[in-house]
Parts: sequence; structure tokens; C-alpha cells
Amino acid sequence: MERAEYDVLIAGTGPVGLIAALAFADAGFRIALVGPKASTSDARTTAVMNPALRFLDSLKMGPFLHEHGEPLKTMRIVDATSRLVRSPTVTFRAAEIDMPAFGLNITNAELNAALESAANARPGVVRYESMVERWEPGEGRVGAKIADGTELTARLVVAADGRSSPARLAAGIEVDVRPTGQTAIVLAFSHARPHSGISTEFHTESGPFTQVPLAGDRSSLVWVVKSQDAAELLALDRNELASRVERQMRSMLGRVTVDVDPQAYPLSTSRPRRYADKRIALIGEAAHVFPPIGAQGLNLGIRDVESLVSVATRYRGDPGASAALAEYEVRRRPDVAMRANAVNLLNRSLLSDLLPAQLARSTVFEALRAFSPIRALFMHEGMRPGSGLRALFSLKARDRRAEDRT
Ligand SMILES: Cc1cc2nc3c(=O)[nH]c(=O)nc-3n(C[C@H](O)[C@H](O)[C@H](O)COP(=O)(O)OP(=O)(O)OC[C@H]3O[C@@H](n4cnc5c(N)ncnc54)[C@H](O)[C@@H]3O)c2cc1C
Repeated sequence: MERAEYDVLIAGTGPVGLIAALAFADAGFRIALVGPKASTSDARTTAVMNPALRFLDSLKMGPFLHEHGEPLKTMRIVDATSRLVRSPTVTFRAAEIDMPAFGLNITNAELNAALESAANARPGVVRYESMVERWEPGEGRVGAKIADGTELTARLVVAADGRSSPARLAAGIEVDVRPTGQTAIVLAFSHARPHSGISTEFHTESGPFTQVPLAGDRSSLVWVVKSQDAAELLALDRNELASRVERQMRSMLGRVTVDVDPQAYPLSTSRPRRYADKRIALIGEAAHVFPPIGAQGLNLGIRDVESLVSVATRYRGDPGASAALAEYEVRRRPDVAMRANAVNLLNRSLLSDLLPAQLARSTVFEALRAFSPIRALFMHEGMRPGSGLRALFSLKARDRRAEDRT
């Protein structure tokens, strides 16, 4: 039976685990990457925002992303509910904050394949194309028995093994999981009119309906519906589905042609009580799950990786030490809590028929529509925590300097 020791064992080969493998290897750790062949049948796309793009660029993924990703220049939110109080349409333009785009939208199939081939080629990464079958957390190391019979140990385990995370269970971390009663229908479509780099999120009574630009005259769609209505949409033939999509989009992009089979993702929220314990640190969906609104999930997962690698580098002698895990917890808790709360609140306000919820949402959207500094703050914060306030202060300093000169 083969046995091997590593500094770090990464469990999970979704996008977050693969990115973690690249980042830990580049930081000089000897790592085991354990998980099945990365999925290339995922019909979703991911809007990777600029701060995450910069990090992926530092991992040498920049040229691939720029070649295959479609720039997201404008994001528009339209209230498509038929309620008494409706919110105004709000348009966020990257040019308003001096950026050519907020980020790039890329298909998960292409992203996963590229990350996997980069990880397989990276010196320092030893790939086990297998599943972890048993975890054994111990004093100085964690043991893992994988399906091919190999026994591995590591000082730090990075749990990137998704929303059901067996590694999280082994760490004894409790998790609060709540289904939202919604399902995301995901597909891609071509359209007669160009999208001009604009993504439109229609807010409906069952959740958001979000079109995001792809290369050429194509877009991806995440259509969140009540779970009981999902089967009916999935059973439609492509022509009927295309006319439903076109109608929902008010023919904004002209005639629609659905060119892939739709996939369904039941939605839930999930919050673990802690982000690390017993030498096991949670990242990606092992650490946070919430509905797909505002392209937050993977971007947050990439920030988990940045923080964990930075902490592990400071504790290089023992990256799984309890002081290192405590520091990781402190760094990640506010960011994750803020994103999860904001997304869940917005989602609940869409589902709620209560007038106060609609009034509150419409007041926030009106403030965003009417005041460009609030919009700018929101756009920066949407991409990275803390960057909104920094941008606001540097803008104020710039204005003061301009005043001093006059
Ligand atoms: C409809 C939809 C649209 C979205 N759009 C966006 C977007 O535009 N922007 C954005 O930032 N985010 C978006 N997200 C969120 C994003 O997709 C997730 O955050 C991301 O896919 C999570 O990746 P992950 O690697 O953490 O998990 P996963 O992709 O679930 O990967 C988990 C991996 O762990 C493996 N695994 C499980 N158990 C074991 C084991 N025992 N041993 C080894 N491996 C194991 C699995 O096989 C899998 O490979 C969206 C989500 C949804 C549902």
C-alpha cells in the first residue's frame, strides 16, 4: 500500500480546489491534490471580477482568461415584479469607476479544464485522481485514505470538497443548511442583437433572471424559479424555451435561440459554525453557499484561497497549527458574513409579499440610481471588501488636490 506525506492536502477539484492547488504550489508548498477529473459538463458560467482576475493572473491564468472570457462592462438591475411598490432600474457602468470592465464571464467547462491542466503541470502538485474515503484528524497531521488505497497525511487539509464537504464533517464543524425553495435553471443562448457587454438581472417574484454576455452574440442565463416550477421549464422543447426566455427579457436582445440543454441547480444557503478546526480549513462552497445573485460565490472562494495561502506562508513550519487556523477564521468571517447576509436579504426581499420589504428594497435602489458616489461605493465593494471606502477616500483626496490647485 502506498503512503505519502505532504505539507498540504487539498480535497476537491472544483474551481476553488484547483485554484488553491496552483496558489499553494506557487507559494512553495508540496501538495497533494485529491479529487475526480474536473467537470467539463457544467453548463454554468462564472463572472470573474477584476480583483479575482488579478489573483488568477498572478497564477499565470491571465492569458487564458483574457482570450476566453467576455468583458462585463455594464450591469443593470430591472425590477420585473408586478408588485405595488417597484424599484427603479439601476445601471452600473464600469466606466463610471474608471474601469474598462468589472470582470470577465467565462464558461465553467472551459475554466475547469484550463485550471486542471495548469494544476497537473505545476511542479509541487502531486495529483491523485480519486476520492478521499476516510479522514483521520490527528495531533500533528491529518490522515486520509483515498479510494485507490493510498494513505496520505498532511499538516494542513484544505477542504474544497463542495457543499456537502466530508472533510468538514471529519473536522466536527456543524453547518446550518437551509433550502431556499428555489431552483436555478442554467442555459446559454444566442440572440439577434448584440449584448454590448451588458448583463441584465431581472428581479422577479421567484428570484433573479440573469443574462450575462458570452463571446459573440451569445449570453448565459441563470433563471431562478420556485422549485415546483422547474420541471415544467426543463420539459419544454428548445423553441418554446427560447420564446419564454425572449418574453422574460422583453425582446431586449431580439430573437433568442437556445443552443444547449438546460441544467437545474436546487438552491440553498449553508453556513458552517467555524471555518477551520482540527487542521482542516474550509474554502469555496465547503465554507459558504448562497443563491447566485451578483456573481459572488466563486469570487468569495478565490478570496478564501488568497487568505489561506497568505496565512499558511506565515506559518510555513506548520500551516495547520491552531494559531494559523484561528487567523484564517478571523480574516474570512467578516467578508463571508457580509456577502452571505446581503445576498440572502436581497433574495428574501424578492420572495416576500410584505410591503415593508418592497419599500426597503425600492429605497435602496432609488439611492443607488440617484447618487453616483453611493453607486461607486457599491460597485467597488461588490468586487472586493474595503475597496469601496478606499476608492471614496482617494476620490476625495483627488478632489481636494484639484481644489488646492485652483
Ligand atoms: C447557478 C449558479 C451560478 C453561479 N454563478 C456564479 C458567478 O457568476 N460568479 C461566481 O463567483 N460564482 C457563481 N456561482 C457560485 C460558484 O459556482 C461556486 O462558488 C463554485 O462553483 C464553487 O466551487 P467549489 O470548487 O467550492 O465547489 P464544487 O465545484 O462543488 O467542487 C467540489 C469538488 O469536491 C469534490 N469532492 C467531493 N467530495 C470529495 C472527496 N471525498 N474527495 C475528493 N474530492 C471530493 C467534488 O467531486 C468536486 O470536484 C454560481 C452558482 C450557481 C449554483
